[in-house]
Amino acid sequence: MPPSGSSDIKSHTITVGLLEVQGAFLEHRVALQKASQLLGNVDLRITEVRTPEHLTHELDGLIIPGGESTTISIYLKRNEMEEPLRKWIQNDRHVPGGLCAGMFSFFEKGTENPKKLGGQSWLAIMNTEVSRNYFGRQVHSFESSIQLQDSELKEIVKNDTYPGIFIRAPAIVKCHLPEVKILATLRKNDETVIVAAQQGSVISTAFHPELTEDCSWHLYFLKTILNIKPK
Ligand code: GLN
Repeated sequence: MPPSGSSDIKSHTITVGLLEVQGAFLEHRVALQKASQLLGNVDLRITEVRTPEHLTHELDGLIIPGGESTTISIYLKRNEMEEPLRKWIQNDRHVPGGLCAGMFSFFEKGTENPKKLGGQSWLAIMNTEVSRNYFGRQVHSFESSIQLQDSELKEIVKNDTYPGIFIRAPAIVKCHLPEVKILATLRKNDETVIVAAQQGSVISTAFHPELTEDCSWHLYFLKTILNIKPK
């Protein structure tokens, strides 16, 4: 038997689902694996989520990757996943991470969402108002340093800033404080824009952390799971 404290002992099993509809889910797998190695004592299992049956209570976390929010919502509707997903997310023992198009699925009110009645998103689980393509079209995609606003994140990143990759990204234009915690902002064209936020266990970012070498955001995601997971 290995001595106590050995890194061979995996004291926690974490299961993370990846909504594999479109987007960079392979990059998320790599980033999650890298982050779990940094944690050391975690046995990470990553499972694909494509049907309502995949949304089990075995999942501690779920990543909704970027892509095209309309395509994702059509897929969910066609596969009768909307309600099971909403229910899964509403359980506060679960940690959902919505990135870019995924962030867009979480808002309560949209500024450019004419197809959905009343501008409401189908999930409406974050008390935020989100502008879908805040920074413009695909050609206006960019990389920029973002400012971290949360002390735990700063500690994980070991910096006050992080390289953000924005691809036809949304932004949070209004949010209800302190219910919603601002995790990161971006200075652009003389304005400060909210680009990452958290409400309870729900985490969302407008940028793509899976495309950055630094896996700190995935580490923050896994640590959030560990913080709420019963020992
Ligand atoms: N703004 C895009 C949309 O909502 C999302 C882009 C992305 O996920 N990279 O469809």
